[in-house]
Amino acid sequence: MTDDLLSDATRRPQRAYEHAEISDELLHRLEQPSSSLKVSIPVRMDDGSLRVFPGYRVRFDDSRGPAKGGIRYHPDVDVREVTTLSYWMTFKTALLDLPFGGGKGGVRVDPRSLSTAELERLSRGYVSAVADALGPDIDIPAPDVATNELVMGWMADEYDKIVRGHVPAAFTGKPLALGGIPGRSSATSDGAFHVLRILRDRLLSGVETPTVAVQGFGNAGSQLAATLASDGYRVVAVSDSRAAVHDPDGLDVGKLVTHKQGTGSLEDPPVGEVIDAAELLALDVDVLVPAALEGAIHADNAGDLQARVVLEVANGPVTADADEILTEAGVEVVPDILANAGGVTVSWFEWIQGRSGDRWDAAAVEERLERRMVAETEHLTRVASGRDLPLVTAAYVIALERLSAAVDAQGTARTYSGG
Ligand code: NAD
Repeated sequence: MTDDLLSDATRRPQRAYEHAEISDELLHRLEQPSSSLKVSIPVRMDDGSLRVFPGYRVRFDDSRGPAKGGIRYHPDVDVREVTTLSYWMTFKTALLDLPFGGGKGGVRVDPRSLSTAELERLSRGYVSAVADALGPDIDIPAPDVATNELVMGWMADEYDKIVRGHVPAAFTGKPLALGGIPGRSSATSDGAFHVLRILRDRLLSGVETPTVAVQGFGNAGSQLAATLASDGYRVVAVSDSRAAVHDPDGLDVGKLVTHKQGTGSLEDPPVGEVIDAAELLALDVDVLVPAALEGAIHADNAGDLQARVVLEVANGPVTADADEILTEAGVEVVPDILANAGGVTVSWFEWIQGRSGDRWDAAAVEERLERRMVAETEHLTRVASGRDLPLVTAAYVIALERLSAAVDAQGTARTYSGG
């Protein structure tokens, strides 16, 4: 994690300022998070020893509604990373016009080094430490890297115990048995798929069978690779943190998913050739999908890219310097705050379900997700074409204007100037 991750992240909105109708008050509001909590989480390990893990929960902005954002378990998690992720969530929920602000959480831990029981104690300990900052009207966590519905189930249960009642809208990404919603685990890849489908004419006109490379064969990346492969795209390369696999004629993605589920990695793949991780990013493909972690495409490797389109499924996979290199080279970047917003959109449905006591079926989730992703993608293309802006800048213009409208409507400035 670089020290300047947050300042790097601010450069995309800064480029949009001059094209957006926004108030100065919004810019002041975006200078720092509304709340930033650092906690320590003591965990009794299976061998009887005690370890203490640092944890974080940041609420960046809640002008448009309660904060929303996942919880990440990773050895590199720190307050700057969590703050940056909560900053991006603020723009993502605004771009999708969801009634939420931006939040994020994390624990600095290598989850692979913990047993399942230790992971459960850590997850419950995290909730116990940050519970005062959470709640369905305040800040609603969800899964992120290395957290899943099992973890959300433990966390939701712990929260219910603390408040001595059932609050199903306090967490999203829960198991179905605890008030989860069908389709949450495929929501991010489904959303990315709809975005690419709507942008296909603009980005890939004349390409009959677009080729795709996916960096990050996890929850989002592997499901998107499978969906694209079954929709007439040719997935020629995929990678995880251990190996990259390539076949110019197209990979059998299903076999790789089974292999990854069985062995835990893409090492010794049943199909394709193993290539260097850096080679994957430089392949001559139509669509490159970074779906691992932030900062994957930076000033030192952006010049090597041969892709026509970069579909940002990870959060922040392209640094601000790389953005400029890609724009200069005519590469279209589809911004993360749209491309991976399917997850938070279905989380919104789960939150509504939890508050209303209703039950949504898979068909209702699919239909409403598609409707929302299509509408906001079409709106984005209209703004990008109408104001002659790249997709990334246009996305930030829309989000900034929605945030500004909320900040202005809260009326603080009018109250003071009127007095
Ligand atoms: P995940 O933990 O399921 O998968 C991450 C994958 O990336 C793993 O396969 C890992 O091995 C791989 N990886 C890590 N470092 C790598 C490297 N250097 N090169 C190649 N592969 C590498 O996580 P996920 O939920 O799929 O999330 C991936 C990204 O998408 C993150 O940036 C996350 O914030 C973002 N995202 C996820 C969701 C969601 O709902 N899952 C929603 C929005 C955004």
